Amino acid sequence: MTQPHIVITGANRGIGREIAGRYRAQGAKVTGTSRDGATGATLDVTNPESVVAFAKSLERQPVDLLLCNAGVYLDKGESIEGYPAQMWAETFAANVTGVFLSIQALLPNLRAARDAKIAIISSTMASDTNAPGGAYIYRSSKAAALNLGRNLAVDLKPEGIAVGIYHPGWVKTDMGGDAAAINVEESAAGLMARFDALSLASTGSFENWDGRPHVF
Ligand code: NDP
Repeated sequence: MTQPHIVITGANRGIGREIAGRYRAQGAKVTGTSRDGATGATLDVTNPESVVAFAKSLERQPVDLLLCNAGVYLDKGESIEGYPAQMWAETFAANVTGVFLSIQALLPNLRAARDAKIAIISSTMASDTNAPGGAYIYRSSKAAALNLGRNLAVDLKPEGIAVGIYHPGWVKTDMGGDAAAINVEESAAGLMARFDALSLASTGSFENWDGRPHVF
């Protein structure tokens, strides 16, 4: 069997880097991206030209799993008087538009693979049920990414492409901070098991890193 090809956005640090390393250790072909191109392929998901150029660099290469992991959390600790419009724009450009443009650009590659999968890293903060207040921009952006994944799952099912949406846990990374609940190794291992389990039967599901279904 040929080695699977896995594309991971934002693979230069945090959860993305850990997952990239683990897939490489399993013998998969991994295309990991970074904004500056210092580690792997160059991709800024907020820049449509960058997304197109990245997809062109992968022309005719089937992609078995596209992991939309790149994201920002710019409004951490923001007071209700804050939340400037520019922060909304920058966050949505990365966490929502960036996810859509990445998937759209790589659709030919996903279609060229058998049983291709798309994994979107959203967050528990996407949930309408768990709504403790604050972080309005990040929460809204992750809710939008969840919604995007749910609807893409419907549209891509007839093409045999499964879409899963995930909460990676509260993870000790630059974003999650040192007080986070789990380390990056636990999150990566859990998420990879979920990507493995993802199928057309479970497409559109919103799951925790450890396999528990997430409330919407
Ligand atoms: P990090 O901040 O450690 O890493 C974020 C990654 O995304 C970096 O590689 C970063 O690149 C990349 N990135 C940011 N903006 C862009 C962009 N415009 N184009 C391309 N890449 C970009 O975060 P984590 O590893 O913790 O988070 C990974 C994902 O998990 C994110 O989507 C996050 O929202 C989500 N998440 C994380 C949680 C946690 O507790 N850590 C909890 C819930 C969800 P660069 O180095 O250039 O900035």
